[in-house]
Amino acid sequence: MRPLRSHVNGDWFTPTDEGKPLLDAVTGERIATITSAGVDMGSALSYGRRVGGPALRELTFHQRAALLKALAGHLREHRSELHALSARTGATRFDARFDVDGGIGVLFTYGSKGRRELPNDTVYVDGAPERLSRDGGFLGQHLCTPLHGVAVQINAFNFPVWGPLEKLAPAFLAGVPTLVKPASQTAYLTERLVELVLDSGLLPPGSLQLVCGGAGDLLDHLTEQDLLAFTGSAATARRLRSHPAVVGRAVRFSAEADSLNCSVLGPDADEDTPEFAVFVDQLVTEMTVKAGQKCTAIRRALVPAHRMDQVAAAVAARLAEVTVGNPAHQDTRMGALASLEQREEVRRSLKALLATATPVFGDPERVDPLDADPLRGAFLSPVLLRADDPDAAPVHEVEAFGPVSTLLPYRDADHAIDLAARGLGSLAGSVVTADTDFARRVVLGLAPWHGRLLVVDGNTATESTGHGSPMPALVHGGPGRAGGGEELGGIRSVLHHMQRTAVQGGPGVLTAVANRWMPGAPRTVDDVHPFRRHLEDLRVGDSVVAGPRTVTLEDVEHFAEFTGDTFYAHTDEEAASANPFFEGRVAHGYLVVSLAAGLFVDPAPGPVLANYGLEGLRFLTPTYPGDALTVTLTAKQITPRVDADHGEVRWDADVTNQHGESVARYDVLTLVAKKPGEAG
Ligand code: NDP
Repeated sequence: MRPLRSHVNGDWFTPTDEGKPLLDAVTGERIATITSAGVDMGSALSYGRRVGGPALRELTFHQRAALLKALAGHLREHRSELHALSARTGATRFDARFDVDGGIGVLFTYGSKGRRELPNDTVYVDGAPERLSRDGGFLGQHLCTPLHGVAVQINAFNFPVWGPLEKLAPAFLAGVPTLVKPASQTAYLTERLVELVLDSGLLPPGSLQLVCGGAGDLLDHLTEQDLLAFTGSAATARRLRSHPAVVGRAVRFSAEADSLNCSVLGPDADEDTPEFAVFVDQLVTEMTVKAGQKCTAIRRALVPAHRMDQVAAAVAARLAEVTVGNPAHQDTRMGALASLEQREEVRRSLKALLATATPVFGDPERVDPLDADPLRGAFLSPVLLRADDPDAAPVHEVEAFGPVSTLLPYRDADHAIDLAARGLGSLAGSVVTADTDFARRVVLGLAPWHGRLLVVDGNTATESTGHGSPMPALVHGGPGRAGGGEELGGIRSVLHHMQRTAVQGGPGVLTAVANRWMPGAPRTVDDVHPFRRHLEDLRVGDSVVAGPRTVTLEDVEHFAEFTGDTFYAHTDEEAASANPFFEGRVAHGYLVVSLAAGLFVDPAPGPVLANYGLEGLRFLTPTYPGDALTVTLTAKQITPRVDADHGEVRWDADVTNQHGESVARYDVLTLVAKKPGEAG
């Protein structure tokens, strides 16, 4: 039986100590041993900071995103192997889709978001510049740069693939190296995952390290630039949060701990409605996927008091169809818990719950698994309870981290909100109703206590992503008992790994620092129209000033007739004069924008390929017939694509009248070609 290896300081480390045995959750066979004895935690962290950090910071967001995408593709080729190993944790093929395919999916999502939503640069410009002086000669701009530490992740046993990958992707995209410490119970799967990642050769050295076994003195070596992200029990979260190094050095800490998630059935859902069926279906899914070992699973199912019996009967009937057994058997619908210890832990929690609840389905002490030994494998029957006094304490305090859920009756929306809040903070909640007023009331009532809420009815059920599935683009985490942390949420979690700095200065220097043109910064106007420049030759600040062009009443009338936009402000002098904002007929805003384009474009075929939109369009001053328009178009941000023969150019457009007043301001978004042969 081999010891699990760690990967630190650029090499695999095989412990010489024997370590703790890790058992197959289904057969009880020994798989490996685990210990971190001999791993030098301090030097691993220092290696990450010294080697991984600088290598990652050399790359732009787009280059890092491309690596994540390539890594996702590489892991997808090995998904069958990961699925097979996943079965040893007790997971069925269906469960493995959440862990393995879900983890790969996170890499794909961040690979794509990184290229679509971040600049091809090493600095992130956060928001618009803030004017700090009256004439605009002094500005403030928030910038985000990667922390120079290591993102340490301490993970739970239930998602040995998704857990490391959902934390790695945003850290990597931010430019911060990662050190993974998986939960011991299922670390053999994470070890293989890390091996596959490292063997791909895609990641820069030092950007991913692995410590198998206990954390030892790892936390003592954390510095002010490191981050610590934890998933697991609330008790361990408390311990880590108050660790002297974490407190003393203000280490950025994020926890995602157990939570007593709720699902609320709306009062409109009687037994014949699709919502009733959706609620039952979702509850059974959440109880049985990964044998209920999901931090987002429904622990408290809130049901209108008069429907308790109907719901109990319907859920029990569905649970009776769930075959518990060896994940390798094709008829198995629910596999094993991750270990025998975990099963004992769930049984202990069930005893506490049973003090004020009664069993509806399942015996925690008896199970007859298909094609498996009930003593050697960590099998447990799904257990449905009902607590007819919903205000009794244990169900709002005790989490049985397995296939266990409790039905609770509620009187009205306020009571349901009140009961949900007694969980003191949850990761995910759901409301199953077709009554949109009830949905609004409950969502707004639950929101302060939840990181994510899902509302589903009969129409949306088939497209719903499900109560328990964290989505890479959406926030995962919750307040209070759920840990108070936030993961995923698209680019939000990338920024979590970066330092936001408010930089103050003149527009010129801020333009240079941010690599993004700021109003008031110098412009370059020369004989070459910027539309004649390929991407490589274009510079931030390159401008064209065009005009003036006098707008006539005929222009306005022609535009009204031609487009059909005969709104009175453009066609009826008397009505327009009565409008508090106008002194007579005004030009259409879209006419102003069209005339501006007519002024600034350079029409001949050239490197500008397409205009794909406008952003932030504001009409600031009315344009009257007789006004003369001038437009200044300035290259604001240049984003070359790493894998295409073009890039994006954002232009600042400022349309002014003969008095120098801004009539319209907006960003023009274009695609501009690289020089022939410069792609990639
Ligand atoms: P733990 O909190 O004990 O362990 C989680 C992780 O923390 C593991 O990697 C563990 O390592 C590590 N760890 C434990 N103690 C320390 C420490 N003092 N310093 C540094 N790292 C430490 O949770 P379990 O995995 O044992 O699960 C226990 C309960 O937690 C479950 O029954 C469930 O209620 C809840 N849970 C919640 C999850 C969620 O996602 N919200 C997920 C999983 C569990 P090691 O394994 O090596 O001890």
